[in-house]
Amino acid sequence: MHYFGVVTGIMTRMQDSPTIALRQTIHLQINVDGMPLFKSSNKQFWPILALIEEDPERMPFTVALYCGHSKPTNTYDYLSDFVEEMSVILEEGFTFNSTSHSIVISAFICDAPARAFLKNIKSHNSYYGCERCDQEGVWSNGRMNYPLTSATPRSDGSFRSQHQKDHHKGESPLSQINIGLVSQFVLDFMHLVCLGVVRKLIWLWMRGPLATRIGSQSVQSISQKIIALGKSLPKNFNRKGRALTEVDRWKATEFRTFLLYTGPIVLKSNLPNSMYDHFLLLHVGITILCSPHLSSHYCDYAEKVLKVFVQNFSAIYGDFIVYNVHSLLHLADDVRKFGPLTQISAFPFENFLHSLKKQIRKPNQTLQQVVKRISEQKPTNSVSHSRPLHNSLSNHSCCTKLSLSIYEPNNIVLSGHDMFRIERIANIDGCTTFFVRKFINKQSLFTSPVDSLNLGTAYCEELSAEVVALSEIAIDAKVVALPFKHGFAAYRLNHT
Ligand SMILES: [Zn+2]
Repeated sequence: MHYFGVVTGIMTRMQDSPTIALRQTIHLQINVDGMPLFKSSNKQFWPILALIEEDPERMPFTVALYCGHSKPTNTYDYLSDFVEEMSVILEEGFTFNSTSHSIVISAFICDAPARAFLKNIKSHNSYYGCERCDQEGVWSNGRMNYPLTSATPRSDGSFRSQHQKDHHKGESPLSQINIGLVSQFVLDFMHLVCLGVVRKLIWLWMRGPLATRIGSQSVQSISQKIIALGKSLPKNFNRKGRALTEVDRWKATEFRTFLLYTGPIVLKSNLPNSMYDHFLLLHVGITILCSPHLSSHYCDYAEKVLKVFVQNFSAIYGDFIVYNVHSLLHLADDVRKFGPLTQISAFPFENFLHSLKKQIRKPNQTLQQVVKRISEQKPTNSVSHSRPLHNSLSNHSCCTKLSLSIYEPNNIVLSGHDMFRIERIANIDGCTTFFVRKFINKQSLFTSPVDSLNLGTAYCEELSAEVVALSEIAIDAKVVALPFKHGFAAYRLNHT
C-alpha cells in the first residue's frame, strides 16, 4: 500500500484548478472501492479516493493505493495513515500559498460491502444489515428480506454506543475522527439504484419467477427500442444502450439511462400494466431525487412514492425486498442532507478508477508503476498560477457545457416551463444568443403517479412557426428528446 496523502492531493487539485484555492473551506467526499486489474489473475487495486466538492471539474484524486491478491483484510491497517492524517488536518487545516484552509469531510460514497468494511459492521445481507434502521431481516428463499417500511432509525450516537450489538463486528477505526458513521455514509445511487434495483428488476423480468417473467417477444421489442433510441441520445450520454440479452454486460450508466429516460418509453406495452405502473414509481421517485430543482421542492413526495414502490414490490415480485430495494426508503434523507443524488454518487470515482487502471503499462510491479505516475503530478506549495482565474466565456458558455448545437439530438432546451428547438446560434455583442422555435400543445407523457408535466417531462408533436431569440442565461437545461409515437418524449437532462 502506498499513501499519497489528503493534503497533497488537495494541493495538486488547487494547482490545476485555481478556483478551488479561492475557497477557505474544502469539503471532501471519500470513496473506497476495489477493481480487478487483469483477467488472468486476482490482482486488484483498493484505492482511497477523494473529491473536492468545490472542484468545478469534480475530478477525484488518489489518497492511497492498495494492491493485493484479495481485498484488504484489516480495516485498521488499511486506514491507519488516513485516520492519522485526517485527525490532524480536520483540527488544524493546512496552508497553501500562504493562505490557511480548513477541511471538512462531507460524505463517504462507497458500495455496501466497502461501507461495511470501513464501518466494521456486518454485511448488508445479515439480519441487522440496514445501515439506517434497526429492523431484523427475514431469511427467505436464500436471501435476506427487510419487509418493514418503518423501523427505529439508527443515529450516529446509537452507532457509536453500538446500541444494536448484532449490527457491528467491532469498532471502526473511523470512530477516531469526527464524522457521523451513519449520517455521513451515503447510500450510493450508482450501486444501490442503477446496479442494484434496476438490474434486479430486469433480472426479474427475464429470469425471475414465471409469474413476472416477460415473454421473449417483449424482450426483443424492448431491446430493439433501446437500440433505436440510442441514436437520439445527446452527446451527454457516452453509452447508447444495448439489448436486454446483454444486460450482464451493461454498465451503471446504461441502467441509469434506462431508469431516467428510455425505460418509460420502451416498457410501454411490453410490461403488464401493474408492473409498468410500479416501474414508473421508481422512475418518478429517482428522477426527482436526481434533479437539483425537483429535489429541493418535492423530496418528501419522492420519499412517499419510493415507499409505495417498496410496499408494492413484494405484492408483485414476491420476497425480494432485499437490501437495495429496502434502502430506497432511506434515500430521501441523504438528498435532504447532501443535495441531489447526482452530486453524491460514485460515478466520478468509478470513471477515475478506470483511468488509474489505464496507467498500468505492464503486468509486473503494478503498484510501483501507478505510484510513480501519480507522484509525478505532486504539487509544489509555492507554485504560481499559470492559468487565468476565469476561463474564457466561450469555454464556460452553456453551449459548451451542455454540448448544445443546431443539430439533432443536441438541439432542444428548456427555458422555464417551455421547450424550444434551436434553429441558429449567434454571438451578439459577445453574448451567445439562441434563435429557437417553441414546442406547443405539450401533453403529459404519463399521469400516474404524478402528471409528468410536473417533472418537466412531456410528449410533444407540434412546433411553433415563429422564431424567437433566447439569451444564454434564459436556458435552464438541455432536453433529451426521444422519438415516441408521432412526436417525441422530452425529458429534462437530469443526470449531469
Ligand atoms: Zn432500513
